[in-house]
Amino acid sequence: MAGKRPGGYPIVLTADRTLMANYDVLFDGMMGTIQTTSVPEPIMRYCVAPPMPRRGLRAVKAPLGVRRIEAGLLRGGFDRSEVIVVRPEELERVIGPETRIVAVSSSDPLGYGMSNTTMTDMAGGRLYTHTWYRRMLRQLDRLRSSAGYRFRILAGGAGAWQLEQHPRVARRLGIDHVVRGYAEQDAPELFRRVASGEPLPFVIYANGVGPNEIPAIHGATCMGVIEVSRGCGKGCQFCTIARERMIHLPLETIVRDVEANLAAGVRSICALSEDFFRYGSVRGQVRAEAVKQLCRTLRSLPDLKLIQLDHCNVTSAAALSDDDLREIHDILVDGQRHEYLWVNLGVETASGELLEMNQKGGKIRPYRVEEWGELCEETVRRLARAGFFPMVSLIMGLPGEQPEHVEATVRWIERLYNERVVIFPIFYSPVDPRLGRPFTIRDMTDLHWRLFRLSYNLNFKWIPRMYWDNQAGAGAPLWRRLFIQLTGRLQIVQWTAKFIWESRRLTA
Ligand code: SF4
Repeated sequence: MAGKRPGGYPIVLTADRTLMANYDVLFDGMMGTIQTTSVPEPIMRYCVAPPMPRRGLRAVKAPLGVRRIEAGLLRGGFDRSEVIVVRPEELERVIGPETRIVAVSSSDPLGYGMSNTTMTDMAGGRLYTHTWYRRMLRQLDRLRSSAGYRFRILAGGAGAWQLEQHPRVARRLGIDHVVRGYAEQDAPELFRRVASGEPLPFVIYANGVGPNEIPAIHGATCMGVIEVSRGCGKGCQFCTIARERMIHLPLETIVRDVEANLAAGVRSICALSEDFFRYGSVRGQVRAEAVKQLCRTLRSLPDLKLIQLDHCNVTSAAALSDDDLREIHDILVDGQRHEYLWVNLGVETASGELLEMNQKGGKIRPYRVEEWGELCEETVRRLARAGFFPMVSLIMGLPGEQPEHVEATVRWIERLYNERVVIFPIFYSPVDPRLGRPFTIRDMTDLHWRLFRLSYNLNFKWIPRMYWDNQAGAGAPLWRRLFIQLTGRLQIVQWTAKFIWESRRLTA
């Protein structure tokens, strides 16, 4: 086999196959990571999550977290010849008797993420994230037992909390250590200790890293994801980064990360943050000028196409004036075909009272609990007026939820029904078993169904247009855009039939 190293690489970094795919835009990745086995595997593997290109044995792109670990190792004295980032497909070619560590990243290894539990309930089947992750770990375990290789398996990534909470499942999968937190700073020492065979605890907590110590990446990332801020710290009990204080990356690091993508031919990026409009904030105070400076810097980079966003907080968007929002939007899309610049807004519920029961701190502050629904409504309208495409997420079944809370959210959606907005309701799934029980399709009342179906009426109307716009702007091949439109329409028919059957009603 071409490029096979008889001894293997000492350190192998990879990620679950739904993350290690050749997506063109961020929404592709979101779709790819929530699909279940109700989608036939060849379609999933070659069309929904197409194989990642490789150069030699190295993956051309990799999840940002994997790239950071790679950068941390190289900065910490490891040589390029010792470390390889690969697709899961290449594992057997790069692992050999000299391999000491295989580090595997996943955002949802056991399928307990909220969007994903909603998908399994609605679409049926098992999540590909979980199915392929398990398959990859079994493959690694087989390699160890049959070939007698001596590597240890480290599991990390945004979904590592699931493995920490279910250590027996993790051990059964052959995982030797779960690494929690941002580990690029600790990686060199940690990997040396693991490689030397030193006994270490099953769960290893990384010490984190300051913004100025975050190493710039050395290769392109999936979907051109780069970080602008990290953490959040607003204290929502349903969130895994509730206590992770927000830090902002220096502009120089951000630019170097974008340049690493551009150098590899990735020309559309996604500026990752839990709250884009909080970039450069001081003691939580939004600074419009810092956000504009970031946008101008990014936009000035030659050859860059789409600058996609991820999340923003309602209160941070509310802290910006209409003119600021418009200006930020216009800088980001300047010179591009990008009519649907979406930004995800975590509204969760229109009831401030219910949200307050599930958060400790800052999500509503400095507003009053009673103002929450109206504030969110006004913020959605203002973002839409400024040219953004608001993508709202709601949570159904939050602990303490009563019919009047659901009713308030239904009325809230009805008031926004004529806006250019999409709304994704997801089922509550606790990040800690002490924080209530998961909400399932069997818990849905008529009101929940109305909430869900009203939301999806909006989604069925707007998502195909947004998706086409984003893919065209990023230069996705025509076959893929047509494939997405066709399968999207089939899924709309399938989901509508499911809604009618489950809710026993023809309309919302
Ligand atoms: S505001 Fe959003 S990111 Fe921050 S803790 Fe709450 S849910 Fe998490």
